[in-house]
Amino acid sequence: MPEYPYMWPHPRCGIVRFPCALGCGWAHDEDAFEEDREPIVVPVGASTQDINRIFNERSQQRAVVLRGRIETGIRDHFAAAHPGREIPAREAR
Ligand SMILES: [Zn+2]
Repeated sequence: MPEYPYMWPHPRCGIVRFPCALGCGWAHDEDAFEEDREPIVVPVGASTQDINRIFNERSQQRAVVLRGRIETGIRDHFAAAHPGREIPAREAR
């Protein structure tokens, strides 16, 4: 399950962390904002809730794209650190 180690307005609040499901301490970090091509529009006077919602919506849009890269990172980690172990993650097939 993803974690959000940095909360808004932390400068790294775009970091989404996917720790190893076996709890070995490894984690795959994605910066959900850094690679955004489109600007995020935050209305003047937006509340923290509004901002959270806007970023949540953006995160969902990007989730599909991110998923492939995250799964690749996790597979590479398992191959390197946990050879022979099955990845206890849901696979969409
Ligand atoms: Zn691990």
